[in-house]
Order: sequence, then structure tokens, then C-alpha cells
Amino acid sequence: MTQYHYFSLDELGIVNNAVAIAEELVSNHYKLSSSQLLHLNYDIKTLADLGPEEIVDDHFAQIIRYAEKKKTDFPDGPVKDFYKICIQDHSILRVIGQCEDLDLYPFAVYIVCHELIHIIRFRKFLQHFDAPLPEKIEEEIRVHIKTHEILANINIKNLGPVFEFYRKWRMAAPGY
Ligand SMILES: [Zn+2]
Repeated sequence: MTQYHYFSLDELGIVNNAVAIAEELVSNHYKLSSSQLLHLNYDIKTLADLGPEEIVDDHFAQIIRYAEKKKTDFPDGPVKDFYKICIQDHSILRVIGQCEDLDLYPFAVYIVCHELIHIIRFRKFLQHFDAPLPEKIEEEIRVHIKTHEILANINIKNLGPVFEFYRKWRMAAPGY
């Protein structure tokens, strides 16, 4: 079995704070009420709570869509889908170890904002979850631009190196 590098307790605390601020920033930006936020029907988990099939090495996070059927539902009732944001501790820790300018807190804020924007766009039917690859890449560029827009005027220490890290995505946008 592969030995993964998990967040320490301190790092988990930092990531939890990053999740809280990211949820606040993104829901403010899209003017979501707390019940609308709830209806996005997602959860955010770190490596310790991921199954083997939810772990990847080439992403900092990935979204997996599950069909959710509550036991109380009628047997033929509609199946609701549920999005699980799977945070890849080992990938994040690896790149933070390699780039001395990158700090965990601003990096995690960026990553979680980014994934939340994806989910909002799926929920608003602005993007298909199972889009073909070229469309997924175009969506990736749009989501990076939106993430930058939401975070650009927020006072979080050391966001600059995070923006720099993702600059190639914004430069890939038409008309940049
Ligand atoms: Zn993305």
C-alpha cells in the first residue's frame, strides 16, 4: 500500500480555516443565501477521509459526483447528486515543499474557492460535469479567471505567489 503524506493536525486546522473563508468569499460573490449554499450539496474531505479510488497524484483536489438516495426517499424518487471535493494532501504538501514562496493557507483558499466555483457552475447548468476534454480545459481557464477575480481584492497574506503559480491558466484565456 502506498504511504501518503497526510496533513498534520496543525495543517488540518489551517485548511479548515481556508475552507471557511473560501465558502464565505464564494457565496458572497454569487450572493448565495445559507440555504442556497446548503443546496449545492457538497462536502469537502481531506486525504484521511478519501477512499483509494478518490486519491490522485496529479491534482491538488478533485470533485467526484455521487448519486445520493436517502433511505427515506420513495423507492422511485429522483436521485440527487452529491459532490465530494477530495483534497489531495500529498500533492499539496509536495508542491509547497518545492516552491518556498507558496504558503499552505493562501494556496488552500485558492484551491477550495476554485472547486466551489466549479460546483456552482455545475449546479447552475453553466457547465456539464461530463463535458468532453476540450470543453473541460476551457472551463478550467474560466474558473481560474473567476477564482482570481474573487480573490484579487482580498487581503490574505502571500496570495501573490499563488496567483503567480496559476498565471499560465489566466494567460491561456483568449484576449488576455
Ligand atoms: Zn478546476
